[in-house]
Amino acid sequence: MARYTEAVCRLCRREGTKLFLKAERCYTDKCAMERRPYAPGLHGHGRKKLTEYGMQLREKQKAKRIYGVLERQFRNYFARAERQKGVTGENLLRLLEQRLDNTVYRLGLAGSRAEARQLVRHGHFTVNGRKVDIPSYQVRPGDVIAVREKSKESPKFKAIAEALAHRTPPAWLEIDKENLRGRVLSLPSREDIDVPVEEHLIVELYSR
Ligand code: SF4
Repeated sequence: MARYTEAVCRLCRREGTKLFLKAERCYTDKCAMERRPYAPGLHGHGRKKLTEYGMQLREKQKAKRIYGVLERQFRNYFARAERQKGVTGENLLRLLEQRLDNTVYRLGLAGSRAEARQLVRHGHFTVNGRKVDIPSYQVRPGDVIAVREKSKESPKFKAIAEALAHRTPPAWLEIDKENLRGRVLSLPSREDIDVPVEEHLIVELYSR
């Protein structure tokens, strides 16, 4: 599947906000948004005021980039969100949050969503005791997400276990830091989802 492979910091600079696409670097002064907080490219400094359509488009791009989802997949999430009861924009963000790669990141079992996606793909996690290597797998309340026994001994997960001491998961998740195992307590509410996205703009964009 096609995936964005260039320097991801350009995406943050394009959106004008930190998207936290790298792990530790995002929290240091090496972050490109700290050093060059303007759009990339020759005309990055002279950014024009966006039209209404431009703002809606940027908001959709931002959400896609935060969750690492491509256009067609994102449209599918939106279609599902529309079919669900409740507020479509909130449904959309909830569905994105329920992705296994995002959940692994939120639990603190990876430093970024991109790292979580790679670790999931490499088969390091189980859901309810069974290996799951599909990053888009939707977790549900009651699901138990765990690092596989043989993976726990790897230097990667030893480092993650150390970093975990400083991480706190959102209210919809619970983490057993000693055993590198998390549980989904409930579906995430809008307050639990701390992404800088105005989802109503995405709904407006797709309603055109
Ligand atoms: Fe974005 Fe992280 Fe790069 Fe900063 S370091 S620009 S937050 S991806």
